[in-house]
Amino acid sequence: MDQSSSASTGASEAGDVVPQTLHSHHKADKKRRRHRARDEASPELNGHARQSKRRNSLSKAARDPRDEPEGKKTKKRKTTAAPAVTTTESGTLTRSPSPLIDFDGLSRPSRGTRERLEESPEQAAERLEKMRAAVRTILECVGEDPDREGVLDTPTRYAKAMLFFTKGYQQNVKDIVNDAIFHEGHNEMVIVKDIEIFSLCEHHLVPFNGKMHIGYIPRDNVIGISKLPRIAEMFSRRLQVQERLTREVANAIMEVLKPQGVAVVMESSHLCMVMRGVEKTTTSTLTSCVLGCFEKKEKTRNEFFSLVGLTRR
Ligand SMILES: [Zn+2]
Repeated sequence: MDQSSSASTGASEAGDVVPQTLHSHHKADKKRRRHRARDEASPELNGHARQSKRRNSLSKAARDPRDEPEGKKTKKRKTTAAPAVTTTESGTLTRSPSPLIDFDGLSRPSRGTRERLEESPEQAAERLEKMRAAVRTILECVGEDPDREGVLDTPTRYAKAMLFFTKGYQQNVKDIVNDAIFHEGHNEMVIVKDIEIFSLCEHHLVPFNGKMHIGYIPRDNVIGISKLPRIAEMFSRRLQVQERLTREVANAIMEVLKPQGVAVVMESSHLCMVMRGVEKTTTSTLTSCVLGCFEKKEKTRNEFFSLVGLTRR
């Protein structure tokens, strides 16, 4: 595959395909959002789009009041793995302004996330029942007989599968890292290649899957190598767009480890593109996020891209 062309066209094709066919009824609104999303997330392979000015598409999500960044949350969870705590001039602890890693490491604070995280067994059963009913409705709507033997248990199976596909909502970076940060005095590039990713596109609830490569240059501290795929796994087991997934993984590593820099590249195939719409079965979407020294130094960035097999031509 020609890497340079997939970098420039793959992702924007994905953006084009999404709103037009399925959601033509609120076209104007969608269009506006689509353009904003594209401005925010335009992926560049060897030139990094500025992070700071981006607005996060999650910033307007309904939040549980407890997840508000300004909230005076007293639960202190200070560990090396959760450095998202800052001290203000007045000396009080506040949450990190980062929308990506919050105090609990929920990383995607919304009403539903908090509810799901803290539910009782009764509430969990209620959630499952609600999902079952919804899937039964879908079966009816697609023209099936939900009481037919073959699909009788499908609502339950699907509800459970869906909860598994989205289990990342119940995980947080702090628990995953679990203090596995070691002082090694190592300052050379570390790369974990070919991390297999399965995620769900938040626009269609249809899977996308592919491979992620993560690299970082330590600042004396290294992270347990198995933690990198686990961080990627946590973020991918949520409803995602690939651009954000790439960015969230990079930001999380940056925040928990404070290395000299982080680079994340992901290449994947989106079933919502492959199975419908343009039906280009060989299209792959490439996204990257480079932070710190990878952003500043072209040589470092190019070394990473060439080590993961993405040399720019
Ligand atoms: Zn999609």
